[in-house]
Amino acid sequence: MEASGSTQAAARGVEGKTYDGSCFCGAVKFTVTGEPAAMGYCHCESCRHWSAGPVNAFSLWKPEAVRVTQGADRIGTYNKTPKSYRKWCKTCGGHLFTEHPMWGLVDVYAAVIPDFPYRAGVHVNYQETKLHLKDGLPKLKDLPKEMGGSGASLPE
Ligand SMILES: [Zn+2]
Ligand SMILES: [Zn+2]
Repeated sequence: MEASGSTQAAARGVEGKTYDGSCFCGAVKFTVTGEPAAMGYCHCESCRHWSAGPVNAFSLWKPEAVRVTQGADRIGTYNKTPKSYRKWCKTCGGHLFTEHPMWGLVDVYAAVIPDFPYRAGVHVNYQETKLHLKDGLPKLKDLPKEMGGSGASLPE
């Protein structure tokens, strides 16, 4: 009998509740456990172009909190830059997550973990926005200082 997702996560030193994620067709399944390091919306050109959407709802996790449970051989990877290794399902084309090795974090798209209680805290790369969102959250021009950005804010 297989151990539950949360038991396996605890074995890797990750505490907390486990949530299921999957690609669009369900061939690839994965879990996230615990709390993400950050959540928010990215307005950068790369996120918009790759997602074919106006904004990317991100959640950033330590790599050990993300575990592929099915269909690992169906996962495609593309890295235009060494900063971002973008992952998708080779069967349906559905996006999964993006590894950011320089930050030691994985961006799991909010849309692929529907049961996770997503709460955006910040907008990043707002200087590139194509969709102004007047939600009262901070709007960073690029990225926080601790992630190599200016940390500067912009009006909504
Ligand atoms: Zn799929
Ligand atoms: Zn982005």
